[in-house]
Amino acid sequence: MTQATQPPKSAWTARILTLFPEMFPGPLGQSLAGKALEKGIWRLETMQIRDFATDKHRTVDDTPFGGGAGMVMRPDVVDVALAAATADGLGTKGNGPAIYLTPRGRLLRQELVRELAAGPGVVVLCGRYEGLDERVIEARGLLEVSLGDFVLSGGEPAALALIDACVRLLPGVMGAQATLDEESFEAGLLEYPHYTRPAEWNERKVPEVLISGHHDKIQSWRNAQAEETTRLRRPDLWDVYRKRGAEKNR
Ligand code: SAH
Repeated sequence: MTQATQPPKSAWTARILTLFPEMFPGPLGQSLAGKALEKGIWRLETMQIRDFATDKHRTVDDTPFGGGAGMVMRPDVVDVALAAATADGLGTKGNGPAIYLTPRGRLLRQELVRELAAGPGVVVLCGRYEGLDERVIEARGLLEVSLGDFVLSGGEPAALALIDACVRLLPGVMGAQATLDEESFEAGLLEYPHYTRPAEWNERKVPEVLISGHHDKIQSWRNAQAEETTRLRRPDLWDVYRKRGAEKNR
């Protein structure tokens, strides 16, 4: 009967290489992600990169060749850590990517999140200091992913965000599939605005159509709002959305 208490082998797995394992699960231990973690819908594993250092000071970084500020994570230490993290196949070809979080990476977008959530999981390497020696990124074929055009002090907050975005897409984590389908980016648009009680608050009324009970009208109002918001706020997304629409109607 041990099987019932063990999470299934196939549970989506986030395996994190970090110098600060105590930062996990952090916010991922709360709310939806936390409950799903408890239920065994997904697994979280951390590996301390420092455990793979070989000298007596357990050094993981060194000064940059060519000079300049800061320290760089050593390729040899990180490589051995990655070898251990991918030994069971996770993070190797066709088995979920091994990701290095870096501002130089491909921007994290919902498409990639969907792809990651549909696979067996991810191996995520969190950088610190100035980042990682380029050679180990090349040698291991790491998928470089960025959270956005800003600089964090380490990869851990980025890993938390990436994993959170994946976990909420796993079957059984969120209540209603419909909620997910309507969300920002699913149709290539930002979402329409939301309203709840009270119907009038500080002299601000909820848009009339939402209390009309006309489902078709509500749907088309929401759609128009989503389109208008996207056009105004995100001309880049709007462009792609319109081109797709034009192709469909051809
Ligand atoms: N010198 C680097 C920044 C290093 S920040 C540069 O200028 O590009 C230290 C670590 O934080 C990085 O190795 C990376 O793992 C993480 N990090 C910082 N900003 C990030 C971002 N926007 N997305 C993902 N990871 C980031």
